[in-house]
Amino acid sequence: MTSTGGSHDRLPAALRTEALEQLLTERGLIDPDVLDGIIATYETHVGPLNGAKVVARAWTDPRYRQRLLRDGTAAIAELGFSGRQGEHIVVVENTPTVHNVVVCTLCSCYPWPVLGLPPSWYKDPAYRARMVREPRRVLSEMGLELADDVRITVRDSTSEVRWLVLPERPAGTEHLPEEELVPLVTRDAMVGVAKVAAP
Ligand code: FE
Repeated sequence: MTSTGGSHDRLPAALRTEALEQLLTERGLIDPDVLDGIIATYETHVGPLNGAKVVARAWTDPRYRQRLLRDGTAAIAELGFSGRQGEHIVVVENTPTVHNVVVCTLCSCYPWPVLGLPPSWYKDPAYRARMVREPRRVLSEMGLELADDVRITVRDSTSEVRWLVLPERPAGTEHLPEEELVPLVTRDAMVGVAKVAAP
């Protein structure tokens, strides 16, 4: 495998990490299950919950929504979420006619402070290559059927810009307060490979 160079020069680091993990596991110095547990916690609890709070706030506070779409990083920091891999987050809104979906074509750039660590499918070479070429088909395979008149915009995350999708608020949730909207918002909806379902 060769390096792609530039700001995306991360493949060697990923390979080195994998080699180190294997070596440490073989020597009995780390337990891969424990490691997986930590990663799973980040992926499914710590990270996406932060993003869900951002989305629920935007759904219930129009002025916050405006600030979020204007300067994602600053509006997200208002809720206390900032740090590594979140220095420049741009938030884009999904609507009935425009659907944004996020990919990192070269590696796995992802907004850690709001979504945690990327899931394995996000790092998969097939997802990264095909989402750009045939997004409607890939989304369909992932369970999201979009009408032909919905325009799909694929956002390529990089080390300079990390994208976060503000999903559509589902119909029938108009009466729900912010705190009851939070658990409805999924990681997949904030990457743009799913919609938020009504409860
Ligand atoms: Fe990347």
